[in-house]
Amino acid sequence: MPSIYQKSPKPLNTPKKKQAFLDRQWMKAMRDWLAAEQCEKAERLRATRELFGEPVTIFDPHTHSDYSDGRATIAQNRDAGLRAGIDVVFAADHNSLTQKRSVKGVPSMSWGQEPQAGNHHIGLLHNSRRLYPRKDGTEKDFDRARKLAPFTWIPHPAGWFTKDYSEERKNDLWKLGPAFAMEVINGAKRIHRAFERHDAEAVELWDRLLTDSIRVTPLAGSDAHLPEAIGNCWTAIPKEDATAESIIAYLNNGRCLASESPLLTMEVNGQPMGNSIDAAENQKLRVKYRVADAAGLQSLGFVADGISLQKIYTHDQPLVEDEWEFTYAGQNYIRLEVRACDDLRAFSAPVYFD
Ligand SMILES: [Zn+2]
Ligand SMILES: [Zn+2]
Repeated sequence: MPSIYQKSPKPLNTPKKKQAFLDRQWMKAMRDWLAAEQCEKAERLRATRELFGEPVTIFDPHTHSDYSDGRATIAQNRDAGLRAGIDVVFAADHNSLTQKRSVKGVPSMSWGQEPQAGNHHIGLLHNSRRLYPRKDGTEKDFDRARKLAPFTWIPHPAGWFTKDYSEERKNDLWKLGPAFAMEVINGAKRIHRAFERHDAEAVELWDRLLTDSIRVTPLAGSDAHLPEAIGNCWTAIPKEDATAESIIAYLNNGRCLASESPLLTMEVNGQPMGNSIDAAENQKLRVKYRVADAAGLQSLGFVADGISLQKIYTHDQPLVEDEWEFTYAGQNYIRLEVRACDDLRAFSAPVYFD
């Protein structure tokens, strides 16, 4: 899949004016094609929701509009969200909060902010005031964000597009306290699918943080700068209530999943994802799960303390519901990850062990 941000193929010695014309033609052709893909993916999501059969609200915490460097207006992003089958789209522009006035009263739209703060960008949902990062340390700016917003997170924690974060930058994540949220899927500059090497790295970081007893809630955000990119990934809560308040309450309880397409749910001894349970060494624990993707599922796996506990190949079935038992061996958490037949992924929030 080519990136739409790449220029049209360049024949040698093309005059500048002609090149600009070719670039515009190329962009238009790509966007038409992507809009068609977006509709196809929306159809798949609609069918997946029906198969899954449990209440969910699907939202995109991370999009950009023309209040910052996005190409589309708030109204165009809202239409794109509706086309993509997303219940709520948050306009999280970089250095602006004026979009808040434009989204107020617009159904299925809400607001946030994503300023750059030194080593990391910081995501805020529903902040009362604009965050002006002082860039004196990720943890300090993150604490300021926490005071302004009922929900905060770290977008693309390992880097994005061509930017690879250094170890030093990634190590800042260990300074953010005993619990926070971060993207494990970021769709920046991606269209049909979001998951790429930075997300693979984010998942590794996630497992390391969780193994160190830091509770990290997973998010997926399209980071769309073009409306056609909305729908390449999203976050969901297990409740049908598309108000920002309900979404934020679920996120703060760690009850969500991050996905490019499949829907999932998991319970350990009756406790849903995001909750914690008391477990004693050698105790038998029962894991129940339900996973759906209308295009078919390739596999699902359970990971605890960074180690694969169980992997199940699902032979392209669109809906899998089952349970299994394992013997607890002192781990900090268990989580479920799923791949659809075309490799699109979903991650559950962990169930934690006290
Ligand atoms: Zn960013
Ligand atoms: Zn962004």
